[in-house]
Amino acid sequence: MSARPVVVRLLASAYNVAEKAGAIVRKVLHSGELGIIEKTGANDLQTLADRLAQQSICASLSRHFPKVTIIGEEELPSEETSEDLIEDGHSEEILQKTCPAEYRGIKEEELVVWVDPLDGTKEYTEGLLDHVTVLIGIAYGGKAIAGVINQPFYNYQLGAGADLGRTIWGMPGLGAFGFHLKEVADGRRIVTTTRSHSNKVVTDCVDAMEPHEVIRVGGAGNKIIQLVEGTASAYVFASLGCKKWDTCAPEAILHAVGGKLTDMHGNGYCYDANVTRMNATGVLATLRDHESYLSRVPQSVLHALQSD
Ligand code: AMP
Ligand code: MG
Ligand code: MG
Repeated sequence: MSARPVVVRLLASAYNVAEKAGAIVRKVLHSGELGIIEKTGANDLQTLADRLAQQSICASLSRHFPKVTIIGEEELPSEETSEDLIEDGHSEEILQKTCPAEYRGIKEEELVVWVDPLDGTKEYTEGLLDHVTVLIGIAYGGKAIAGVINQPFYNYQLGAGADLGRTIWGMPGLGAFGFHLKEVADGRRIVTTTRSHSNKVVTDCVDAMEPHEVIRVGGAGNKIIQLVEGTASAYVFASLGCKKWDTCAPEAILHAVGGKLTDMHGNGYCYDANVTRMNATGVLATLRDHESYLSRVPQSVLHALQSD
């Protein structure tokens, strides 16, 4: 496998690593012991699943790619990761894909991986299981260039016997896989936004989009899946709160199918290792018509979310 470009090898490993993390997230739920901790408050939680999934992802990737910078959401004590959390496999299908020419020469030490081991923790603790995702984003030169989203409880409402969970991945210039791309019909504006981190600026901005419909769900990964599957036409979140690990993998996948993710001013986020973790000026993501949504963002929102 070492003859293939390092970014393709990393992505192929990240695919299997995200599946393993998804299995951990399911296992902790079924154990019934979530081990919930409040981080900055009641709307910012960490569970045993967040902790174990991050340990698994970071230890597995760093074992095979020791020079890659890996940044995970959770602050964890540095301790030996037990061997049963390690995933050594990779996706043969990804490994066989043709790497876009511009990424072929990237060196291992130039890559940054942003890890959200469990996106939608609040919803996980409330039993809204299909909102939950595992996010592994790969960045180079400040740009999100590849991403994997595992949805551990996809199809869970169908009960035993249904294929539980799925993995979506993508790379701009190569494509996005693991789902059927669909646009919202007839140019309808269906806005998806937070259900648990709202405030007046957030709702003012949603209203300013003059949406035909508003959907409130948890998770940044989940909302991007809604965009690429034609459930929503724009993800609008006019607040700080989302971090780089929430948007890196989703942005790469969205970009791979011609979509766009910016802040409320229309500026992209930088994913270099040294940037601030917070996406302080909000998130606007669309599959199509980005400019038309951007043009509706009110001055009051732009004022409330000023760039440095
Ligand atoms: P949501 O749409 O509320 O599920 O948020 C998407 C992601 O951003 C999740 O990982 C949330 O935990 C995170 N997030 C958004 N707003 C906040 C906030 N005010 N405090 C902590 N995390 C937040
Ligand atoms: Mg998250
Ligand atoms: Mg998380």
